[in-house]
Amino acid sequence: MQDSRTVPVPRPAETGGGIALPQFAGQTLRSQDRALAAAPAHVRVGRRMIDSHGRTIRDLRISITDRCNFRCVYCMEPDVRFAPPETLLTVDEIVRVASIAESLGVRKVRLTGGEPTLHPRLTDIIAGLDVATDVEVALITNASLLSRDALGAWKSAGLARLTISIDSLRPERFARLTRSSSSPVQVLKRVEMSLDEGLSPVKLNAVLIRGFNDDEAVELAALARTFGVEMRFIEYMPLDSAHAWDSSKWVSAAETRAAIERVFPLTACDDDEPSSTARTFRFADLPNDSSARVGFIAPVSTPFCGACSRLRITADGKVRPCLFSTTEWDLRSPLRAGATDQELANFLIDATWTKQPGHGITSHGFVQPERPMSAIGG
Ligand code: SAM
Repeated sequence: MQDSRTVPVPRPAETGGGIALPQFAGQTLRSQDRALAAAPAHVRVGRRMIDSHGRTIRDLRISITDRCNFRCVYCMEPDVRFAPPETLLTVDEIVRVASIAESLGVRKVRLTGGEPTLHPRLTDIIAGLDVATDVEVALITNASLLSRDALGAWKSAGLARLTISIDSLRPERFARLTRSSSSPVQVLKRVEMSLDEGLSPVKLNAVLIRGFNDDEAVELAALARTFGVEMRFIEYMPLDSAHAWDSSKWVSAAETRAAIERVFPLTACDDDEPSSTARTFRFADLPNDSSARVGFIAPVSTPFCGACSRLRITADGKVRPCLFSTTEWDLRSPLRAGATDQELANFLIDATWTKQPGHGITSHGFVQPERPMSAIGG
């Protein structure tokens, strides 16, 4: 990893309202302490984002806001503090960065957050990407703000894919888990609405936490059959702002799959992209061409870092080569200091070169990143 130094966490009063500092009090933040080193000349010349382990970036995840209207227990604490608006990338900056990333080989951009539908100019961002690039535009959301009008506008603007998070089908549990007033019935209506509006594919995501919602694997998997979509189970990762993750709380993909298979036998699909985060299965009792599938995203039990094709940019313009990076690279400063497209492209190439070989969640000495998932963008 790139060198970094530890600096004392500023007290909240000194920060002017930075990202999620209170819950990190007493810990240390790492900050970049020297300029990003240039990648080798042949890498820069190649105009591709390739890391020093030979992986190529094709997928860019851009967080467009760190704000969220949910406070999911595995992600964000109620007292989270948000980045000041002026620190967030503007619509033009987001589109420009995506366009430069496309010129370096990116084929898909996922807009995330926080809750990206809280962004007042989400339609402009999608439309900007559509005009400036040929990338496939995807959005991940908790669905709380979806409406037919919004979905229609995003689709017309160029949105292709949609992922909706739903972690429980039990109203009281859903409320406790998301610490919101939304309900599973509302989310399911919006799944139906999204399909009606022609978004394709629509996928569903769930995180199971032992003793909280891990008894719902079968019911959640059944949503795939109801809606003809892919229901994906993501292993709970140590990216919660409460730092409450421990090895007793995550539920492995194997365990979840076994629970589902006791009711719905599954057959492995053989068409997963090597760089895909999910290993997908179809229901053995449904026709082979059924769109109902179950996917397992298993970063804890079966890390897929070796085939990773992703790079993340946070809402405040930091490049994170890995979800678990403890060093991030400040793209916003050169962006706002008049850097040319060529200079920004070099910056992305150089930052990618530093991508760590793996996240090391289960290795001795693993350090959880200071930013929770909500401030990184999932
Ligand atoms: N607000 C949107 C949503 O609810 O989908 C987008 C942002 S959210 C951070 C993106 C994804 O990250 C969600 O599917 C969520 O379940 C997942 N996520 C958040 N914290 C996680 C954690 N600690 N482990 C695994 N997945 C997590």
